[in-house]
Amino acid sequence: MSTRLADLTTLRVGGPAREVVVAETEADLVSAVRDADAAGSPALVVAGGSNLVVGDAGVDATVVLVRTRGVSVEADSCAGAWVTVAAGEPWDEVVARAVAEGWAGVEALSGIPGSCGATPLQNVGAYGQEVAEVIARVRTYDRVAGVQRTFMAADCGFGYRSSRFKSDPGRYLVLDVAFQLRLSPTSEPVRYAELARSLGTDVGSRAPLVEVREAVLALRRAKGMVLDDADHDTWSVGSFFTNPVLAQAQARLLPEDAPRYPVDDGHVKTSAAWLIERAGVGRGHTLGTAASVSTKHSLALTNGGGASTADVLALAADVRERVRDTFGIGLEPEPTLVGCALPAC
Ligand SMILES: Cc1cc2nc3c(=O)[nH]c(=O)nc-3n(C[C@H](O)[C@H](O)[C@H](O)COP(=O)(O)OP(=O)(O)OC[C@H]3O[C@@H](n4cnc5c(N)ncnc54)[C@H](O)[C@@H]3O)c2cc1C
Repeated sequence: MSTRLADLTTLRVGGPAREVVVAETEADLVSAVRDADAAGSPALVVAGGSNLVVGDAGVDATVVLVRTRGVSVEADSCAGAWVTVAAGEPWDEVVARAVAEGWAGVEALSGIPGSCGATPLQNVGAYGQEVAEVIARVRTYDRVAGVQRTFMAADCGFGYRSSRFKSDPGRYLVLDVAFQLRLSPTSEPVRYAELARSLGTDVGSRAPLVEVREAVLALRRAKGMVLDDADHDTWSVGSFFTNPVLAQAQARLLPEDAPRYPVDDGHVKTSAAWLIERAGVGRGHTLGTAASVSTKHSLALTNGGGASTADVLALAADVRERVRDTFGIGLEPEPTLVGCALPAC
């Protein structure tokens, strides 16, 4: 029986894959993708499946499952910890180890599901930290040139939920990622007001790494943002939409109390969750299918059990339309959509 993408993704939707290859070594990973490319047959790289929405008809492709493991560490008091992590390592295990070892820089990224190799793709971020701040280099296999290529951080094109790897979809297979972390039992300065409040400290202060990790995990659990088989609010891809980055002129049209975070001179980021709620979409909102807005966070679209991809996308289209009708802003999906699409907004 063929494997369904619903069994490989955290939203638990998606039809069958033509074939699934499990790659446990880097050599197997590269050859699975290279062989498929050479044969002109599509290969879809899947790791944790936590940022992927696949159509109900499935994919006429070889799904290559990234299951490579390995962490190597060089640490000294001058350069800090240089931690090189294989693509298939679960991200939260890397964070847990960093906190236990006293390596600062990723503590606020606790509880994010998925693999280490996917983190550079959308420059994973949460609670005031992004991986771009600590990535030293990303080693890849370039599927177009058919060679390995290593990118130093400055060449990765990192931006808000973006990178050169995401802008050139499918071209770069991430093999491993090297992080440079500060040796310290205390965190980087806490930048996120909600996190600072829950730590009982001020924005800009540092706190013990362990306490930051625990506080982040508690905040995330309350929002359904830590995977839990028993909790349908976590059967999602996390945030379904990115926070819109607006030109100053467009940002000026937002209501006065809308959140505004300066990005650069010309742009302002606002909150997609705020827009959704203010457009009248309540938590738990549904179109009568098993897909619903999370009851804990308005930015997560969830599968209550038995939802199809079409159900999720119809809900996403409805949310997006209401935000557009209210604010004139088109929300962009955060996950990768394969074999399915959101109707134009
Ligand atoms: C409950 C929940 C909470 C979340 N919270 C956050 C959050 O706070 N912040 C955040 O940024 N994200 C968050 N996410 C999204 C997701 O966890 C991250 O984007 C994660 O990095 C995806 O990793 P993955 O291994 O699951 O990728 P997958 O879903 O397997 O793949 C996602 C994309 O990356 C590609 N890909 C995967 N591995 C590789 C590789 N080695 N080389 C090249 N391409 C690859 C795939 O082809 C696909 O296009 C959340 C998701 C969930 C379900």
